[in-house]
Amino acid sequence: QRAYNPRVGFGAVNSGGKIPLGLKRKGLRIVVTGGAGFVGSHLVDRLIARGDSVIVVDNFFTGRKENVMHHFGNPNFELIRHDVVEPLLLEVDQIYHLACPASPVHYKFNPKFYKTNVVGTLNMLGLAKRVGARFLLTSTSEVYGDPLQHPQKETYWGNVNPIGVRSCYDEGKRTAETLTMDYHRGAGVEVRIARIFNTYGPRMCIDDGRVVSNFVAQALRKEPLTVYGDGKQTRSFQFVSDLVEGLMRLMEGEHVGPFNLGNPGEFTMLELAQVVQETIDPNAKIEFRPNTEDDPHKRKPDISRAKELLGWEPKVSLRKGLPKMVKDFRQRIFGDHKEGGA
Ligand code: NAD
Ligand code: UDP
Ligand code: UDP
Repeated sequence: QRAYNPRVGFGAVNSGGKIPLGLKRKGLRIVVTGGAGFVGSHLVDRLIARGDSVIVVDNFFTGRKENVMHHFGNPNFELIRHDVVEPLLLEVDQIYHLACPASPVHYKFNPKFYKTNVVGTLNMLGLAKRVGARFLLTSTSEVYGDPLQHPQKETYWGNVNPIGVRSCYDEGKRTAETLTMDYHRGAGVEVRIARIFNTYGPRMCIDDGRVVSNFVAQALRKEPLTVYGDGKQTRSFQFVSDLVEGLMRLMEGEHVGPFNLGNPGEFTMLELAQVVQETIDPNAKIEFRPNTEDDPHKRKPDISRAKELLGWEPKVSLRKGLPKMVKDFRQRIFGDHKEGGA
């Protein structure tokens, strides 16, 4: 087997510096940008539990200290308030680059978010190049735009509006993928690309406007569930623990990607509303609202590549995962504002 990262190996943290992949390793130094956010904080939990040293870099734009507070005081954990748009000097073995607002409510109408995707990703790739770290980009199914191919395979190039309200996200992540591949080809940086499909779970922002968080919060607050358009558009919803497992397998594996990481179970928004009704309140009402601009009509991952090359597939169905998120939302909306459990 090929030794991991010939330029620095694991020399600084593991004796010998040449630990073949597949052997049990401990004590990696890992940066998670966006680690105080929803997905990032669950990833941090797993890395810390594995025995790694984790540095979270986050500007708290949508992330919350509460998501990582349970690691305060742990010498293997460090939290840096920093905007990835600014350069950053660190010495690390791996970089999980998640920093980026993921909800349309946050990213529409604000040029800053394109900058986060482009300049932020450039800086983290520059860091990876300087220290010889392996870099993983969390890209998105949005790179497929309003897809003309269904389900979407990684080979599909997408159908994206370059000047629409969602473009800063879609095109931002497409540029981030381009930069990642350029640093790989041009500077020899070891990279990994994940294309993440809609993910839900505990610690999601309550009011970020995404459909699962909206419906769950609305049902709990006895408000009507707001279905946009005719509610026949589809999405595939992945529970966060499945995603984290996929990200870690991708980082540790041999393949650059891109890999679709998502749950192929496809639901219309009306079907999702029904599952939320069954889980929280059968009497919850549904209210139709006009749909947003450039809304993709359908989305469902083809995950054969991840199955074959990463040995990964989601384990948690929507009906199994949703109650875990509901428990966390209930606590945060009505309870004592404790951080969300896993
Ligand atoms: P999130 O908003 O909960 O987390 C993003 C984190 O990045 C937050 O903690 C935020 O404060 C931080 N951040 C934003 N801009 C920053 C900046 N300039 N500098 C430093 N930190 C910054 O979102 P999430 O759902 O956890 O998403 C994590 C990653 O996964 C994102 O890159 C997102 O694009 C990707 N993704 C998520 C989904 C999903 O359904 N959740 C789907 C596709 C892709
Ligand atoms: N960078 C960083 N941390 C580092 C190394 C680089 O933030 O440890 C930033 C650097 O400021 C630059 C970007 O990453 O803006 C790209 O760096 P690279 O060396 O690839 O390009 P250059 O500096 O030559 O333009
Ligand atoms: N949506 C909805 N009601 C809401 C919020 C969103 O019907 O309260 C719809 C939205 O129009 C889209 C789908 O749900 O068709 C998924 O939206 P989300 O913002 O969660 O994810 P994305 O569009 O980024 O996949």
